Formats: sequence, C-alpha cells, structure tokens
Amino acid sequence: MKFDFIIIGQGLAGTLLAHDLIEANKTIAIIDVHITSAASPVAAGLINPVSMKRCIPSYNSYLYYPRAISRYRQIEKKIDSSFLKEKPILRVFSNDKVKNDWQTKYSNTNMDYYISRFYSKNKFSFLNNPHGSAEIHLSSQIDINKFLQSSRNFFKKNTVFLEERFDFSLFDVDQAIYKKLRSDNFIFCEGFRVKDNPYFNWLPIKPNKGELMTIRIPTIKCFDKVISQGVYIVPLDNYNYLVGSTYNHKDLTDGPTAQGKASLKDKLSDILSVGYEVVSCVSGIRPTVKDRKPLVGLHPIHSKIAVFNGLGTRGALQGPYLSDNFSKFLTTQSKNTQNAENQRITSFFDGKKSQFNS
Ligand SMILES: Cc1cc2nc3c(=O)[nH]c(=O)nc-3n(C[C@H](O)[C@H](O)[C@H](O)COP(=O)(O)OP(=O)(O)OC[C@H]3O[C@@H](n4cnc5c(N)ncnc54)[C@H](O)[C@@H]3O)c2cc1C
Repeated sequence: MKFDFIIIGQGLAGTLLAHDLIEANKTIAIIDVHITSAASPVAAGLINPVSMKRCIPSYNSYLYYPRAISRYRQIEKKIDSSFLKEKPILRVFSNDKVKNDWQTKYSNTNMDYYISRFYSKNKFSFLNNPHGSAEIHLSSQIDINKFLQSSRNFFKKNTVFLEERFDFSLFDVDQAIYKKLRSDNFIFCEGFRVKDNPYFNWLPIKPNKGELMTIRIPTIKCFDKVISQGVYIVPLDNYNYLVGSTYNHKDLTDGPTAQGKASLKDKLSDILSVGYEVVSCVSGIRPTVKDRKPLVGLHPIHSKIAVFNGLGTRGALQGPYLSDNFSKFLTTQSKNTQNAENQRITSFFDGKKSQFNS
C-alpha cells in the first residue's frame, strides 16, 4: 500500500499534521499506540498567550494564538466534536512588587490588549489574595484528550490507522517501506520518545516530566476562571479542578510521584484558603528543547523521513501554526528548498557529527 504520508505518533503534533495533510487531499496512514508517559493525553491544554512571570506576550503569540483558536474551531466543526473553551486567567499577585510591575506594563505597553481588569485585594474569599489580581481575558483551554480521541475516530474512518508500536527493525529507510506500507514521506511525531528513534535520536530534546492532580473543592461548584500563582488551577466540571504542573528534567520515571504531589499541595496551600480533596494524579513527559523552539523538518541525509517535534510546554498554543506551515512545506514546495526550520535541524545534525569526529 502506498501513501503520500505516513505519520508515526498521534499526540498533539501528529494529530494536527494529519488533519492538515488530509485537508490538502493527501493520502495518509497513521501508526500510533499509547506509550506510557506521552504528554498530550495528560496535558492541561491551556492556550495562554502571556508569560505569567514577566507579563509580556509569549514568543510569537500574536501569530500562534489566533491561528490556534481558529484551527481548533474548524476541526471541531469538521469532526463534530467540542473540546475548546474560552477561559480567562486570574493572575494572583504574590506581593506588591509583582502587582506594580503588572500595572506599569498595563499602562505603558500594549498589555491592555490581553489584560481586561485588575481586582482589589481579598476580592475572592476562597483565595489568599492580599495583593490583588489581574484578569487575562484572551486565553482558552482545549481538552486535549477529547481532541485526540475524536480525531482518532475520524482518522479511523478516513485513513489507515495502525494501533501498534513502530518497529524500527522492520523499517527500510532507503526504500521507504515499513512492513507493507510505502511512502516517500515518513513523518515522525513521537514526542519525547524520539530518543528511541535511530534516525533522529541526535535531536536536542530535553525531556521534562510534568505532574498534575485533579482535586475536588466541595465549596466551589464552578469558578469561571483559571487561577494562576505558581501553579494553575483549571476549572473542569462540577467541583473538580485540575492543578499543575511540576517541571522535572531529572526524574523521567513513568507515573506520578509522592514528591510531585507534595510539591503541588505545597503551592496550593499558598493560594487556596478552603479545603479540598485529591481525586487523582497523572504525569507525562514534555518534549522540550533548551532554546524552547520546535524541531520541524526533513532529515539532513535521508530525504524520505522528517520530524515534527519539540512542542515543549506550549504545544496547544503553537502546534496549529507550526503544523500549517509544515504541511504547506511538505505538500507544495520542492523538498530541496531549504527553509529556516530545516537549516535548524541540519545544524544540530552537523553539530552531532562534529562531536563524533572530535
Ligand atoms: C503535565 C503536563 C502539562 C502540560 N500542560 C500543557 C498546557 O497547559 N498547555 C500546552 O500547550 N501544553 C502543555 N503541555 C505540553 C504538551 O502536552 C506538549 O507540547 C504536546 O502534547 C506534545 O505533543 P507531541 O505529539 O509532540 O508528543 P506526545 O503527546 O508525547 O505524543 C507522541 C505520540 O507518539 C506515540 N509514539 C511514540 N513512539 C511511538 C512508536 N514507536 N510507535 C507508535 N507510537 C509512538 C505516543 O504513544 C504518543 O501517542 C503539558 C505537558 C505535560 C506533561
């Protein structure tokens, strides 16, 4: 069987790219099996265009945010699902210096585009907020798990979908054949598992484990904002909230840990002034890169394989824009045309080669 594209990995990256390629009238096959610690199924899915620490727009968010919202809405319609919600963020100030910084930026820079209002101290009785807070209205959340599941159902009806682990020992990279599947374009979207990929394991992915917990706050049925102060508290449904996340480059074990839970509870105790119970804990590993930029492009030597990875901590925000660009590159341009992303990939490959030679 010959396909225009074969995608390995149906996390956020593979799902977005598959939708784009199908819409470009390409035939695709997808190979995916749930492998422990994948990032997308557990991610909080916040689409936040503002850096909470520095009160500035996050990198390229003026491009990424509108594209993300319009793209998820289009896909919702296409596959008849609903997974995107607008959710303002309440940035709770930990001290007056942070508050003053936010107020100065609101008055002197274009941050009034993102910030809709400030709240006085102790406005919310269930929060410790003696220094007040600000509301970022331009922010949303995607239920990534639902997005993946409903897309998977769509792909199963409209493409070839193999639920299995891609076995590199059965892959002929020169002939571009995997078992009985052929394609001139194998696109690897394996998240942090790219470290097991013999053709791309030199990419500078620095896996970053994140833990989240679902809590129940019996006194708050549904607060309509995401709360942010050190961690996020994201409203889910009746009395349930998602709390996260931790960041850990050293412990890459599967599954949540007692330390992760303790760290989240510790941060919660700074914010919440009411009781709660822990319902469940989960963890996943983000495919992060030190310079926080994605890794998208063709293999420098093997022209029939490519990678879409490195979505890092903001995959939901930047994924749709990057996928759109990459699918256009893959479907409309000559593969010999070097673009900036490919040059970036090649530079890491060359760097690795010179390390081997020295
Ligand atoms: C705790 C946590 C919270 C997060 N919160 C947010 C957030 O609020 N907002 C945000 O934008 N981002 C968030 N992220 C980051 C976001 O999850 C990632 O940027 C994004 O999900 C990465 O998607 P991916 O498709 O590259 O990788 P993954 O989601 O890891 O997907 C890779 C897929 O490939 C499959 N796979 C791998 N190897 C093989 C193989 N050999 N054969 C077959 N299948 C294979 C895996 O099973 C998986 O299905 C969070 C991440 C974590 C861990």
